[in-house]
Amino acid sequence: MEDILTINDRLPGSRYGREERKRLFTASVEVTGRCNATCSYCHFFATRDRKKVAYDIPFSQFDAYMHFLRYWKEKIEGELSYRFSGGEALVMGDRLFDYSNHGYKITGIKPFILSVGKSLDQKWVDKAKVNSVSHVFVSVENPINPDKGAPDPKKIIEKIRRLHNEDLPIIAGVCVVPNSNFKDLLFICDWFYENLGYIPAIAEVNYDVYQPIKEFEWTALESNLEAVYKKYYGITQLNLFHSVSPELNYRGSDPYIFSLDLENSYKITIDNYYEKIFDVVENLSGRNYPSLQCENTNCDWWEFCDNTKWYWQGDHNNAKSLKLNDYCRFKRMLNDTFYKLIVDPEHKNNELGIFDCSPVV
Ligand code: SF4
Repeated sequence: MEDILTINDRLPGSRYGREERKRLFTASVEVTGRCNATCSYCHFFATRDRKKVAYDIPFSQFDAYMHFLRYWKEKIEGELSYRFSGGEALVMGDRLFDYSNHGYKITGIKPFILSVGKSLDQKWVDKAKVNSVSHVFVSVENPINPDKGAPDPKKIIEKIRRLHNEDLPIIAGVCVVPNSNFKDLLFICDWFYENLGYIPAIAEVNYDVYQPIKEFEWTALESNLEAVYKKYYGITQLNLFHSVSPELNYRGSDPYIFSLDLENSYKITIDNYYEKIFDVVENLSGRNYPSLQCENTNCDWWEFCDNTKWYWQGDHNNAKSLKLNDYCRFKRMLNDTFYKLIVDPEHKNNELGIFDCSPVV
């Protein structure tokens, strides 16, 4: 077995002479393949047949995952949290709490839950409060162009407001904004701020359903980003497109997510979880967050371009060169806009892109 002492050297984030920043790891534990929503952009069901995965994680597999996470917490430098995802964890009913209590007992960390919010009610919240659940992130649609398979954002916002409490925070999670609604970003942020008192994390539509961004959408995005930063920076939290520029949204730390999936792709068991840590780290570094190798070291944002989330380096429908071009332009737009407005009005935009120095085939 490889030396466990060297495993931290293989983590992403500090390659090619970049500084090492604090790593925030989130394990996405897929506890079920069942879901009561049908969002068109869902990554989980994009690669799975709903009928074939309409089951919950076996308890023995979950137990092995929790021992794996406890070992990860001991050996890997950085902060660890884990979430229950899928699928929609709440469809498991009270059995979900057997899992949350067990997870807390083994790891010493309470899980948080990702939910579409359909099954959330006061009764569930009261139970979750006393069953080792840390908090709930509820995905919420944008109010202008909500996905047809997702719950009505007005109803979800009303639930979040009503059910949120100090013991079990119920928080609006991610709001997906399609490219065609970049022109509405300020309106969307206004709507959330007025109705919720804060703005949820805003994300683009990505993975295999990514659509290349058109020229007029870039223009609309830039002016809306400026308007949002001007209006809301320092007023409320802003987490804009964190898959592109996590450095703007996690106070200089680097967030990394890895999946412990329903199918147990790593084949983690109670007998081998300590060996499997090498496979997971290898995958995290090589596949989940592949290195970028941009040679444009004069770019102000090179320090933050060690790697990207895997889907920015091509997907089943979009070529690597196209997505990396968009990623690079997106990142420069986000970071240059932020820097100019918040840090230094004299800041000049970075003109060079990734392919000016490092063509990708
Ligand atoms: S040119 Fe693009 S890819 Fe390269 S460091 Fe700058 S933002 Fe990153």
